[in-house]
Amino acid sequence: MSANIIKYRKAFDTSQTLLDITGTDEFPLDFDVLFSKKKGAQILVSSLKDYNTWISSKNLQKWVPLFIADAKCFYYSDRDTYMIIYNECRPEARIRFSLAHELGHIVLEHLNDERTELSRGGVDDPTYYAMEGAANTFAGNLLAPPILIDDFLSGSKFDVERISTRFNISPSATKAYRAEDYKYWKSLTPSKHEKAILKRCHSALHKHICIDCGATFEIEGSLFCPICGASSSSLYYRGKDSVDVIYPGVELNKSGQAKQCVQCKNEEHLEKSTYCMICGKTIVNQCTYAIANNVPCEYNPCSHDEPLPGNARFCPYCGSETTFLKDGVLRPWDAPQKPRLFAALDSEEDDSPLPF
Ligand SMILES: [Zn+2]
Ligand SMILES: [Zn+2]
Ligand SMILES: [Zn+2]
Ligand SMILES: [Zn+2]
Repeated sequence: MSANIIKYRKAFDTSQTLLDITGTDEFPLDFDVLFSKKKGAQILVSSLKDYNTWISSKNLQKWVPLFIADAKCFYYSDRDTYMIIYNECRPEARIRFSLAHELGHIVLEHLNDERTELSRGGVDDPTYYAMEGAANTFAGNLLAPPILIDDFLSGSKFDVERISTRFNISPSATKAYRAEDYKYWKSLTPSKHEKAILKRCHSALHKHICIDCGATFEIEGSLFCPICGASSSSLYYRGKDSVDVIYPGVELNKSGQAKQCVQCKNEEHLEKSTYCMICGKTIVNQCTYAIANNVPCEYNPCSHDEPLPGNARFCPYCGSETTFLKDGVLRPWDAPQKPRLFAALDSEEDDSPLPF
């Protein structure tokens, strides 16, 4: 299989231009928002069930229910309006692809006054298949722009499950088509529209919520929850406007060292030092695996020895413990708020006499 972008370059460029000029700033793509921002002719969307109910209410005698395998678009030239009808029985990811595909036919101007609907018998075969190929290329790259896949992966391997979850597209389409297009795209120079999409979406693209511990975090290329160590199957995208749940941690200085040593409160650290020069406590949070195996090679699953966030208990790239957790700078995320001994003493702080 070869990349569709090569064959249908115009369809690819059009998909990226549309995302930019409509100001799309969040993925998975929200079709309601996209359709409302698209200029020009109105686009109506209906499920097959609603469409058939509507038609039957208008003309019961002559009514034959319409059947559509996935989706179809009709153009009403008298009203300059498009109507996309989709089969609501299909899985969600497939419906989303179908909507994007039909939008492709509209934006690529496959429909017009003479050709108000597309069907295999309506045009000659080569034209029909070329239009289908173009609409598919448009759809796939609209739903998951390669520049965002690239940013989302941040150097990690092309992971079908992570990408299909993040962009709400089917794993099979991701494996076959997104992978091929992405591989070819890496040889291209991004257009100004693609760069604008990246700029607008970059921050929200890396916002995650962990369903195991409830933490939210924003770390590029993270494969594990930095708080509880859960793997990527527990990590979900959270909307850009959702509330943050930040676990407490150690405040860091610009070099990634603890501002204040958690043990002796010393604030003076030598440049590049990872231990407190007064008491010897760890002051930099690092992946324990990466610093123990600091020879990057292809068998080394983690070479991230850079300072990690002050609340990370686990390395977000490989799931190993961090030095802050291992050395007792941070307590496990699910540990009780205070060690039991101190909690017990605190509760007896009233002036009841000591039992001795
Ligand atoms: Zn089509
Ligand atoms: Zn977690
Ligand atoms: Zn210290
Ligand atoms: Zn690591």
